[in-house]
Amino acid sequence: MTLLEVKNLSVSYGGFKAVQNVSFKVDKGEIVCLVGESGSGKSTILRAIAGLLPESAKVEGSALFEGKDLLKLPKRELNKIRGSLIGFIFQEPSLYLDPLFKVGKQIEETCLIHSNKRCREKAILSLEKTGIEDPLRVYNSYPHQLSGGLKQRVNIADATVNGPKLLLADEPTTALDVSTQKRILKLFLKQKEEGRSVLLVTHDFGVVWEVADRVVVLKDGKLVEEGSVFDLYREPKHPYTKRLVSIFRELSEF
Ligand code: ADP
Ligand code: MG
Repeated sequence: MTLLEVKNLSVSYGGFKAVQNVSFKVDKGEIVCLVGESGSGKSTILRAIAGLLPESAKVEGSALFEGKDLLKLPKRELNKIRGSLIGFIFQEPSLYLDPLFKVGKQIEETCLIHSNKRCREKAILSLEKTGIEDPLRVYNSYPHQLSGGLKQRVNIADATVNGPKLLLADEPTTALDVSTQKRILKLFLKQKEEGRSVLLVTHDFGVVWEVADRVVVLKDGKLVEEGSVFDLYREPKHPYTKRLVSIFRELSEF
């Protein structure tokens, strides 16, 4: 069953076409990886879906989520959906956390969008699930007191506190060490087990092979290849995908 359907999405900044006529789906319980070189439009697609593009960006097409076109919803309604049904993990979490508030309170605020029950407890639990050893200390910290990796985990805890149906994650593991990265990937796989979905932007081919059901390959803002990891493995067409497969072969020799 389709959860998200992106149709003919185009985004331009000024006259520059960053994304051109991109269409793909994310099914319920599926992890779809969006890959492509730097500047190919991955973050732009994710931000367009979440309504997080700057005002200056011109967006065309549609992104249907449970029958609603996210690209046409009023901002208020979209903000509400983003807190509860859709979670967003930023490539640069420092920019997203408010420096004036303890991070635990910020996660609690997100929880309050969705429910008013036991939000403090849920926030702490959500921090714990990202593998943070001392969730209470982190809960009571201000963003500037935390390392980049911890801030990224706080963002992940925030994005998942309401058990969203769809998680949009923009290179969520870049600031993390290998063991924490594994933990986060497990969290994504658990999300999938529960019938939830993840749209994951990543540069890391190892991550693709570990979690993806399907892969969408972008180049210069255009979709150049799409398929199940299995199909791509058997018959990669695009040079980028061929590289993806050769790296997987290298990895599996160990
Ligand atoms: P990726 O995430 O794949 O690296 P982006 O979606 O961030 O790519 O960027 C796609 C293209 O759009 C790049 O050429 C980038 O320079 C440009 N771009 C991204 N954001 C903006 C913006 N706010 N204003 C102008 N150009 C932008
Ligand atoms: Mg990006």
